Amino acid sequence: MGEHKVHIDQLSRDELESQLSTLQEEYRRLGAMNLSLDLTRGKPGQEQVALSDALDGILGGDYRSADGVDVRNYGGLEGLTEARQLFGEVLGAPVAETLVGGNSSLTLMYHVIDFALSEGLRGPASAWGNSDTVKFICPCPGYDRHFSICEHLGIEMITVPMLDSGPDMDVVESLVAQDERIKGMWCVPRFSNPTGCVYSDSTVDRVARLGLDSTAHFIVMWDNAYCVHNLYDDAPALASIRERAVQHGTADNIFQFGSTSKVTFAGAGVAFLASSEANLAALKAHLAFQTIGPDKVNQLRHVRFLQDQATLAAHMARHAERIRPRFECVLATLAKGLDGTGMGSWLAPRGGYFISFDARPGLAREIVHLASDIGVKLTPAGATFPYGKDPQDSNIRLSPTFPALADVQACAEAFVICVKLASVRQRLKKADAR
Ligand code: PLP
Repeated sequence: MGEHKVHIDQLSRDELESQLSTLQEEYRRLGAMNLSLDLTRGKPGQEQVALSDALDGILGGDYRSADGVDVRNYGGLEGLTEARQLFGEVLGAPVAETLVGGNSSLTLMYHVIDFALSEGLRGPASAWGNSDTVKFICPCPGYDRHFSICEHLGIEMITVPMLDSGPDMDVVESLVAQDERIKGMWCVPRFSNPTGCVYSDSTVDRVARLGLDSTAHFIVMWDNAYCVHNLYDDAPALASIRERAVQHGTADNIFQFGSTSKVTFAGAGVAFLASSEANLAALKAHLAFQTIGPDKVNQLRHVRFLQDQATLAAHMARHAERIRPRFECVLATLAKGLDGTGMGSWLAPRGGYFISFDARPGLAREIVHLASDIGVKLTPAGATFPYGKDPQDSNIRLSPTFPALADVQACAEAFVICVKLASVRQRLKKADAR
């Protein structure tokens, strides 16, 4: 239960001033502790990466894949068949629609967009770059590296609000229907980065239909980075976008992505994509100019290690054991300090890597500064919006997986003090201005 059950808007000036002096005192006390903490890194902790140490040496000199390929040699642009089988199942796609690449799904995403832009998914006449302006729908808050790809490639970004059920599809549908310059949309459908929401069945279905509303060559970038990253057994499932797309005849409009970056080794995992056979053929023809084939040795190591969906799920449960206490620590500290105060809102994700906090508008930057001044590094305010600009200056992404649990606790407590201090100061300033 919260310490301050009174909503900030109900506090009198005297009460605000009394809270201010207590908070300033607590803030000074934290400052004197010379903290050096970091809640910015959405990466697995050391104990988590160590869960996959058996990858090292797992081949034991046996370099033959199930279908007899010597994985040490060149070839196999689309990846090893047994890796396509395993990771295709993760994305809900058959082998023929799955490509397994190198260590980064972000690289695959960049390739797809760059290809659609400059070469065209169906030949030069279909290249998005034939138009002066190319736009993408970016549900916000979202993943900064998606936005950087667009910015780097000169794609204009249109923000759409995220709801608890996923992107606001009324807005998305009307935008896509009205503007043929919109060529795509980013989605992190399960345990979205950063809100942690899981797209509802109806949202998945509506996203799958978007290809019908748009002119040709619209694509959905379905980045399912956290598809197997449950923290609890009752974590909500995600409907299959492929099944819906096949029903609606829009399979060419969907590209699905995933990787083992947060399953095995973040820097040495395998990445995969699934799309229609026609899209895969077009993409492969382009990839063939860049590589003779991916690292099949690593793909085979991953297949031997992760084996099947049941073994993968058991492995992910071991990750969850390590992440869950960190999430619960942040959520309990937020609830204890801020529930009922009107100083912020957040979701309690059932999986993924992030907790997204919405402060009172106009305060995110200040909270991040206040924290930084006492040695607590938070993700820069605005990072979850295109061009680094949060129009409300409200969203802050918290990433509790990497630091030790004691540090997560200290960060969360300091964060709550900074939120309260900024909120009370803002209310007093507003009262003065009246
Ligand atoms: N997609 C999302 C939504 C992410 O949050 C991340 C990493 O944080 C990535 C992709 C990076 O994926 P990869 O390591 O496969 O390039």
